[in-house]
Parts: sequence; structure tokens; C-alpha cells
Amino acid sequence: MIEITINGQTVAAKKGDTVLKAARAHGIPIPYLCFHPALKPSGACRLCGVETGPVSGKKVVMLSCILKVKPGLEIRTESDLVTAHRQKAFEKLLSMAPNSVRIRELAEKFNVPVAPKPDSCIRCRLCVRVCKDIIGARAIAIVKTETGSHVGPGDGTCIGCGTCANLCPTQFICVQDQDNVRVVSIGDNVLSRLPLERCEACGGRYATARFLAHVDDNTGNHVHTAGQEHHFCPSCTKLMSRRARTENKHLRK
Ligand code: SF4
Repeated sequence: MIEITINGQTVAAKKGDTVLKAARAHGIPIPYLCFHPALKPSGACRLCGVETGPVSGKKVVMLSCILKVKPGLEIRTESDLVTAHRQKAFEKLLSMAPNSVRIRELAEKFNVPVAPKPDSCIRCRLCVRVCKDIIGARAIAIVKTETGSHVGPGDGTCIGCGTCANLCPTQFICVQDQDNVRVVSIGDNVLSRLPLERCEACGGRYATARFLAHVDDNTGNHVHTAGQEHHFCPSCTKLMSRRARTENKHLRK
């Protein structure tokens, strides 16, 4: 038997064993994906890197699926060097398989922060800017995390106007009217769920109460409509305008 040290613990291994095999036999966790006991190791995934070398001397990272045990070998599986190596290895794997649940779960198990799953957002910020600068709602914002940034809820309240979804070039933000309720979603996450009000003319549901209140608060009274607060859907509004124009023409004749 050969004795090596892993994280300061003396571990016995058979001659010819790899460090990964010795660590696994003693319940010392090392991540790996490309190792299979029935096949020769290849080191392709590079996840199983461990630090070797004396604590006070030159340290290097070597792949534990390939590195063979030898008397007095000192191994560390949780040093800063190993953490940096693992992070790079996980990032490379996720660049090839960004939606892999198995890789993401393994990274989480070993506390390696990795970039979030790709979404269809291109971070153009059109939605964020229009919501803040034009609508004035500040309902969405760029949320920064350790591993990147994404569009998420802001510090304001969504009024369900749908402007963000209309501008979104990739349909990542969407608005759906279902069962008399308007749902605004950012990817798979619902931002707001607001009941739709009826048009006073045709009775169809068409806008949220918050949106109508926002319009009332932000538009000046027209000389012909002062004091009347009617809410009509765009189709009825068009129809009424057309009728009014025709009537005016007849009156002028
Ligand atoms: S639907 Fe909500 S989040 Fe989108 S622009 Fe309107 S207020 Fe902002």
C-alpha cells in the first residue's frame, strides 16, 4: 500500500491507483464528468483538477483521474488554485452545454458560481428604458448578480401597459390577455397579473385599471371632453372619431 495525504488526511492507496480513485475510496469529493471506471481516463472535462506539491513549495494543478499515487504525495482538493481551475473548467463545459442540468447541479454542489442559463434576452435595455423614461413606472430593471445581469422587477409597480413587450426585439418580455386578466412576463417569470377593464362602448376587455388611471393622470383635459372621463377601446375610439369627422363635414355644408 502507498500512503498519500489528501487535505492533510493520510490516505492509503494501491500502487497504480489514481488520486481520484483513492479520494473516491475515502469519500473525499472531487467533481468529474468524463471519468468512467470501465474506460481509460482522458482528462477531457478537466473538472477533477487537484493541487499537488508541498504546502510551502511550488504548487500545480493536476488532473486526479490521471495522476497516479506515489509515496508522500500531497494533495489538496479545496485550495484557491483548485477553485480557480474548477471555475474555468465549469465555464468551458457550460459554454458547450449551457442548459445542462447535470453540469449546473455539479457546479452548485461544489459551490462554483456559474453564469445563469442563457435566455433570449439580448440586454438591449429597451424595456427598462421605456418603462422608466416614457411610462415612468420603473417596473423593470437590470438586476446584477455575481455571474452577470438580467432583466427583472424594478422598484416601481407595473401598470400593464405592454409597452415593454411591444419594444422587446426578441419577445423575451411578453403580454398575454387571458380570462380578463393581463399577464406581463419576463421570460418564465410573471411580473404582473392585472384585471382588464371593459370598453364603455363595446364592452370588450382592453386595458388595466392602472393603465387607464395612468392615462387620466398624465393627459390634459381636451376642450370637448373636459369633466368627462370615458374609457373606450382603440377600435371604438377610431369609430367614434370617424363618425365625428363625418358629422362635422355635414354640419359645415
Ligand atoms: S407593462 Fe409594466 S413593465 Fe412593461 S412598460 Fe408597462 S409598466 Fe413597465
